Amino acid sequence: MKWEQKGQSPDILLSLCPPWGVLSPPLGLAYLAESLSTHGIGVEICDINVLLYRQVDQTDQRLWQTTNDAFWRDSNNTSSLLNKWKTQITLLTDSIADSKSPIIGFSVIDPNEHFTAQILRIVRKKAPSKTIIVGGPGCTDLYQRQELVEESADAIDYFLIGESEQSLPRLISLLKHSKPVNNFPNLINAHSTLAYNREQRIRPNLDTIPFPKFNNFNIALYGGMSLAVMWSRGCISRCLYCKERALLGQYRMRSVESIVDELKYCIETLGINNFVLYDSTVNGNPKRLQRVCDEIIRQQLSITWSAEAIALKSMSSTLLKNMRKAGCHTLVYGIESGSDKILSSMGKLFDSITATKVLQRTHEARIKVAINILVGFPGENDFDFQQTIDFLVKNSRWIDRLDGVSSLQVVCNTPLEKHAADFGIVLPENDPHDKWKIANGNTFEIRQKRLLDVLEVAYREGFEVGRTFLTDVAPQPMKNRTQIHYPASSAHNNPATTVSQQVIPHTVSSSSPPPYESHLKDGQELNSGDDSFKKILIVTCQSLPISGKPTTGGSLRAYNLGQGLEKCGHQVLFSLPTQCLTTDIEKDQWQDLAHTGYNIKDIISKTDAEIVLFCNWGLAAANTPCEIPSIIDMNGSLILENYYRQHSQPFLDSITKLNALANTDYIIAGSETQKAYLTSWCLMSGKNPDSLTICTVPFSLSAQMPDSQDNNEIQFILAGYDWPWLKGTQQIRAVCEELAHSQNSSLHLFTSTAPYSDSINEDSSSDTSGNLYSLNFPALVKHEPVDFYELTKNLSRSSVALDLWQKNPERDLAFPSRTVTYLWSGLPVITNSNGELSKLISDYNAGWIIDSEDISQLRVLTREIINGSIDIAQYRQNAQKLFTDHLCRENTIRNLNNFCCQPFLNRTISPFLAKYYFMRDLSRRLQTLKRVDENQLKYQEKLLYENKKALYDKKKECELMGMVHRRPKGLAVLFSLPLIQKRFHRLIIGTPVLIYLSVLTLIGHTLHILWTRRNRS
Ligand code: SF4
Repeated sequence: MKWEQKGQSPDILLSLCPPWGVLSPPLGLAYLAESLSTHGIGVEICDINVLLYRQVDQTDQRLWQTTNDAFWRDSNNTSSLLNKWKTQITLLTDSIADSKSPIIGFSVIDPNEHFTAQILRIVRKKAPSKTIIVGGPGCTDLYQRQELVEESADAIDYFLIGESEQSLPRLISLLKHSKPVNNFPNLINAHSTLAYNREQRIRPNLDTIPFPKFNNFNIALYGGMSLAVMWSRGCISRCLYCKERALLGQYRMRSVESIVDELKYCIETLGINNFVLYDSTVNGNPKRLQRVCDEIIRQQLSITWSAEAIALKSMSSTLLKNMRKAGCHTLVYGIESGSDKILSSMGKLFDSITATKVLQRTHEARIKVAINILVGFPGENDFDFQQTIDFLVKNSRWIDRLDGVSSLQVVCNTPLEKHAADFGIVLPENDPHDKWKIANGNTFEIRQKRLLDVLEVAYREGFEVGRTFLTDVAPQPMKNRTQIHYPASSAHNNPATTVSQQVIPHTVSSSSPPPYESHLKDGQELNSGDDSFKKILIVTCQSLPISGKPTTGGSLRAYNLGQGLEKCGHQVLFSLPTQCLTTDIEKDQWQDLAHTGYNIKDIISKTDAEIVLFCNWGLAAANTPCEIPSIIDMNGSLILENYYRQHSQPFLDSITKLNALANTDYIIAGSETQKAYLTSWCLMSGKNPDSLTICTVPFSLSAQMPDSQDNNEIQFILAGYDWPWLKGTQQIRAVCEELAHSQNSSLHLFTSTAPYSDSINEDSSSDTSGNLYSLNFPALVKHEPVDFYELTKNLSRSSVALDLWQKNPERDLAFPSRTVTYLWSGLPVITNSNGELSKLISDYNAGWIIDSEDISQLRVLTREIINGSIDIAQYRQNAQKLFTDHLCRENTIRNLNNFCCQPFLNRTISPFLAKYYFMRDLSRRLQTLKRVDENQLKYQEKLLYENKKALYDKKKECELMGMVHRRPKGLAVLFSLPLIQKRFHRLIIGTPVLIYLSVLTLIGHTLHILWTRRNRS
């Protein structure tokens, strides 16, 4: 199909490539054509967009749906389309090349850039002598122009930027008469430089531009049912995510006469009386809008129209009813959020209450209410998003349609893009507009999830749903949706200018399974390839078990958490304390990221880590606040451990711990008991019960377990550090005494007296008690400390393990790493009845649960084991089964992995902590003054005789300090001088008021009595 050429000797051919609206002629080209014609310049139009749409099959026509915009943004897709539609495109480009117009103009609008560039390349080949000018919002930025030039193989001669109704006719005249155009405003010669030679802001008075008469268009191609019209340009708002202001400037509205004239022309000449306003907002000038409506009503123009509007207070019932009378059938409001905080951050001119009122009034005026929702604006947390959901539910009776539900795109040249760093926005190289993220968990995936939540509400509440922006990016047209590109309305939906119409390619759909649902076997990757993998820095306070040194449970835990996260697909880095790097291998491997305990922020910025995992709260507290999402592994109670280590400073430890919790985003507990214990700490730190983020990771050893080795001997084993809170001498003695009766049984002890290196607690001399190592029994075989590899070999050779200690608060809370390691090695364990794993061990017959105080029970059990009356092999199998079922990383690390995939900030501070820090600062400030006693003051009084004011202030501060430190308690409160003074003051002020009120009351009563008596008499 060839387009219909109208008029003679055209000077310019204007064209537009797909995808764009097909139900109305493209308004931009129509305005240009009208202006050119008015200036006597011959114009012809070749709307490749609609011509191609009419020629391709129905399936391909779905590509014009706005939901498939992402498809066009991929140059590979557009290349395949060019191949697929080769015949049609050859015909169209031949027509353009054969046209008599020496100049060809193309309009570039997202997402038609790639297609346009490739068409330009063909046209240039076919018509090398024609001058090609490109304009439109898709070439306003330098990088857009660079891409177009590159992709079109230098097919473009000029770019003309900005509103061109006035400049294009002048330019064509100059080119037509071969006059120089070097200094032409906003014209860029694409063969020399892509930067402006002379930039000029052109914002014409809209009444000076003729409205389109569509003489050059074949209206029938578009169905002839409705027309896009423009009553204004620019916007009164400056929403941070929107490009409208940058492109079109302040709000300018056409005169009432001009608007009405155009409507009359369309009705009378074109026979069209249904219009779609293409304005960013119809109510930027409510008074003029009122007059337009009045005029339409007065002239009895029988029209219908729809428009976009801002939910301003000025949208009164009167205005809305008039709009309805004037034919307005639908208003689309860019409500975007139900959170006032987010609305204000966006720069919206209304709050949620105003929005509610306007929606209600619109509904009551019998105008259909459509709204747009935008999720993921920086700062939008779960609470804000919930407010949006609540808003939709609360206002569902006023809302008819959800016109667009979109996820925020960071669009070039918007204030949001220019200040992305201030918002904490990270723009990835690949697909930055969509896949941007913020460290607090505002990721593409979360935004997609929120879109689904909004849609769920929409369907539940029975709204019509327009653009959902949830489309799979695929090389074929997808869902059979009904929306197609339509220059329907304002910049809220303008693909060139704002977010809403820029369709989001997505990889999450409602049918997508939750990421980690299936039961995974060892060796299977937990995550499938997407960008949810993070770079995680694990900060330990000990060496790692692969360093060739003896290991602790904490070290094993940290290393295996890292291994587990790596298995999930994350990149894991370790930062070890500098003083732990004692071997050459350690220095080689970890020197670069070694920490001093207080320099984690430097390491984070050095490594670009996205998440930091601290292996205890001491490390976390020393590095608050952390700018990236942080996790603390809080297995065990460090406060209790510190107590047994004689490092105890309960108050300071508690405050530090609360501070660490308040500043962390995610917490790992070792067990359910620990989780309950940590919940109360978290609440004290100010965390909201609804946003507690504590997961339980008992351990994360691999399901790959060591093979058991046959051993003729009955070998008991006890391995691990000799911590001061572990008291098991009695139990070991009892076992050893029983073992002594047997020829081939022994207890092997793998422990160490060496203090372990701790970067926070400088004095670690009390970290080992040395109790175990000092034990001497004939059946006790003491080994030199070995590394984890050697220990594992010994564990697999053993028959039974011991993890049996006197009860104490630390043991009650501990999750026994060594028991987990025993089970992993296939060792049945004799352990305490109060241990976290005792129930599981008992259920699986994976060991023996005894009361640690009941030594006789232990003796009997030991004898039974030695006598061979217990099937140890079966117990070994059970131990490994228990581990596989409950403790291997594939089953334990999921929640942690989920957080790492979608991390977020969850920080807070309790009033208590805030008060503490305030008082601490105050105390520090006054510390020097505290020491100033009365004599010193008198002495200073002499010295400061000349400066009584300074002395007075100092005295006051001393008094305040005194009050802080000597708060009266008990009865003293009653007699404390300052309090008595305070009450006395109150009495002096309060007494006259009291007397005054009493007199008033008495007078009132008296009058009332007198009045009653008089009435009676
Ligand atoms: S989003 Fe809408 S109201 Fe806000 S600046 Fe853009 S066009 Fe104006």
